[in-house]
Amino acid sequence: MALVQIDNISKIYQTGVVQVKALQDVSLSIDEASFVSFVGPSGSGKTTMLNLIGCLDKPTKGKIFVGREQVDAFDRRQSAMFRGSALGFIFQSFNLFPVLTAYENVEYPLMMIKNESTSKRKEKVLKILDSVGILNQKDKFPDQLSGGQKQRAAVARALITHPKLVLADEPTANLDKKSAINIIRLMRTMRDEFKTTFIFSTHDPEVMKEAEVIYTLEDGRLV
Ligand code: ADP
Ligand code: MG
Repeated sequence: MALVQIDNISKIYQTGVVQVKALQDVSLSIDEASFVSFVGPSGSGKTTMLNLIGCLDKPTKGKIFVGREQVDAFDRRQSAMFRGSALGFIFQSFNLFPVLTAYENVEYPLMMIKNESTSKRKEKVLKILDSVGILNQKDKFPDQLSGGQKQRAAVARALITHPKLVLADEPTANLDKKSAINIIRLMRTMRDEFKTTFIFSTHDPEVMKEAEVIYTLEDGRLV
């Protein structure tokens, strides 16, 4: 069954008199529990695509469905609610809170959206930290972790609320080759475990090989 349905979207950025066609007439659908990559050179529209699916921006035309929701029709508040409850995000530069430990960074989304007992929360956080392989690093602050360990914490943070969909824009761009492959494989293992759909972007040929479905963008068009 399709989790993401994209119907003929275009995205045009208008800066002054200059129009940039970041995406043009793109249609596709992404299945539940799939492991999908958007690839293409810099400027091809990867980030724009992930931002539209992630309710961070709106298409100029076309429709986007995630699950049963038409997300392009959401207002700002609905978008924010949907992001918090149904989506997980992993970023190129990790975006962990520097003043929180790995444990606290992972716990944070749970405290924002769910009214849960402290003991239940603790059990969940410890379990996911174990799944991503950094349980023994849980009390460290981000600047005491390697890049790979930081991204493992970010993967755990994205999954702690059990979202249907995780979006990762160039999640391996700031990692060495070995850590990059390890993080992508970890994401795939997490997909297997939680049946979470992962959509990531990359321009690294080694990383894209790990995807099960690849969409190539060129000047905003699917090729
Ligand atoms: P990628 O992630 O593949 O590098 P992007 O989606 O970031 O590509 O960008 C696609 C095109 O849209 C590029 O030409 C880029 O310069 C342009 N673009 C992206 N964001 C904006 C913006 N906020 N305003 C104007 N142009 C933008
Ligand atoms: Mg980008």
